[in-house]
Parts: sequence; C-alpha cells; structure tokens
Amino acid sequence: ATMPPLLSAIATAGRHGVLIKSAVVMERLGQVDAVALDKTGTLTEGTPRVTDVCPLDHSGLTEEAMLTLAAAAEHPSEHPLARAVADAARKRGLELPAAWDFASTPGTGVTATVDGRTVAVGSPGRLREPHPDHPATALATRLEETGRTAVLVEVDGSAVGVLGIADGLREDATATVAALTTLTGTAPVLLTGDNPRAARLLAAEVGIADVRAGLLPQDKVTAVKELEGAGRKVLVVGDGVNDAPALAAAHTAVAMGRAGSDLALETADAVVVRDELATIPTAVSLSRRARRLVV
Ligand code: ADP
Ligand code: MG
Repeated sequence: ATMPPLLSAIATAGRHGVLIKSAVVMERLGQVDAVALDKTGTLTEGTPRVTDVCPLDHSGLTEEAMLTLAAAAEHPSEHPLARAVADAARKRGLELPAAWDFASTPGTGVTATVDGRTVAVGSPGRLREPHPDHPATALATRLEETGRTAVLVEVDGSAVGVLGIADGLREDATATVAALTTLTGTAPVLLTGDNPRAARLLAAEVGIADVRAGLLPQDKVTAVKELEGAGRKVLVVGDGVNDAPALAAAHTAVAMGRAGSDLALETADAVVVRDELATIPTAVSLSRRARRLVV
C-alpha cells in the first residue's frame, strides 16, 4: 500500500530531525498561525557558561568560596544554568561539599543546605533580598545590560554576590524566526523567565518585537491562553521544566530534544532531535503539504 500522506510526512519530518508523535499532531502543526518561543535553550544553544563571579565586598567570600557554595547547591539540578555553575567550579578544580535538603522552583532557582548554611541561587528578582538599592541589584543590572543572565547567590537569607552567565544564540535562530514569520504571517513572541534586559537584546538580534520576560511557568500559560483567546492557534517551542505547563496549554507544542528536560519532552507533541531550530518551520511546511493531499 502507498503510505497515507500524514504518515509519510511523519517519516519525512523524522529524516529532517523532528520526531512527530502522531498523525493528529502532524495534521495540527500546519494549522498554527502564531508562535511562542522560549529563550534559554530554545533560541539560545542551551550550553551557558559562567563569565563573571562577583562576590560582594561585605560578604567576606572569595570568588572560589562563593562559587563553591553556589555549585554545591546547584549540583543536583538539571537546569542548564545549574550545569553552567557546576562546570565553572569543576574547571577551577574546586571541591564541592555535599548539599542537603535540595529544592528547586521552576523559573526561580534552587536552595540547599551546604556546610550547615542555607544557600539559594537564582533569579535576582525572585530570591528573598531583591531590594532595588542593594549593591547586588546594581551588579545584576550591569551584567544584564550586556545580555547576560545574572544569578543571585544568597547565604542564610542575605545576598553575597552575583554570577554572570552567557549563552550563545543558535546559529539558525534568526533564519528560523524569519521563516516562522513568513509561514504564520506574524512574528513569534518571546516568552522567558529570564530578565527583560537580556531578553530584549537577544530578541532584537533575531527580529522579535514582542518580548514577555520575568515569567513564571504559569505566566507562560497565561500568555499562550491570551493568544489563543484572540483566536490564534499557537505553536509553543520550549525545553525546560518551566515550559511544560505552556507546552501542555498550546495548540501544538514542540520541545528541544538535546538539552530539553524529560518533562518537556514528554509533554510536547513533537521533539526536535537534530538540535536545529530550522527543522520546526520545515515540519510546519510538511504538515501543510500533507493536509493538502488529505483533503
Ligand atoms: P527561560 O524561560 O528563559 O528558559 P527559566 O524559567 O528556566 O528560563 O529561568 C528563569 C530564571 O530563573 C533564570 O534566568 C534564572 O534567573 C532563574 N533560575 C531558574 N532556575 C535556576 C537555577 N537552577 N539556577 C539559577 N537560576 C535559576
Ligand atoms: Mg528554556
């Protein structure tokens, strides 16, 4: 028998590097008329590196001491930023003490007990000491204005310093945004838990004007529902645990496979396995072609 068009499109999409989970998904992909993209790990490569280790003077901590505490607390986390912090410590040959009572909050950061102290590492806006006139805030803002993600380190509830983390734009990010804009008739929206300064810099570079930053996982859902409430069929692309609720709420959801979290991969309707963003507009085009053959 000749293969039905949707199944043969699934096979072709697979050869291009996108795993489509069902014929229904293959069909729905071609209906999307709006796109919401995550930033970290989706538009960026998802292999961030620590570029700055900045303990505050009053903390009495050396760079190494602060990095050791932060890396010990991040060690159990699978978040790309956590891996960056752990890698930075490993590169400096630092020995990490064990962490106890580890807890992570998607879109915020982690906490753990290290050497009897409570260490928190995460978003400067969401940890406990984000006073606008605190020296850590100025430091974080300065890093963010250069496109970096600033991560605050707190010990026993007070800020001790900031880490600057950089993640490169994917090579095909700009071309993919352009292709998706042509296919849907509107430019994609950027949804990120990261800071608005870094998010806007990166968005401008790839041709995105609509930037929603500082979002918690549930805020990403609200943004998607808002678009769908306005009658759009939204394609959501993400990689993190923080993206899972938005992926579940989307008309169609695609997860980035290589650095993606298990939860995102399981929740999404399709998975990019070749780790190229450009496979997504290809899959949308394949769906449209197959649907023309079906009807
Ligand atoms: P995005 O939506 O861009 O993929 P996330 O929602 O995963 O980003 O994270 C949003 C912000 O929360 C990060 O920019 C960082 O400030 C903070 N954060 C989340 N998880 C961690 C972590 N494990 N370590 C440090 N910071 C974190
Ligand atoms: Mg992400």
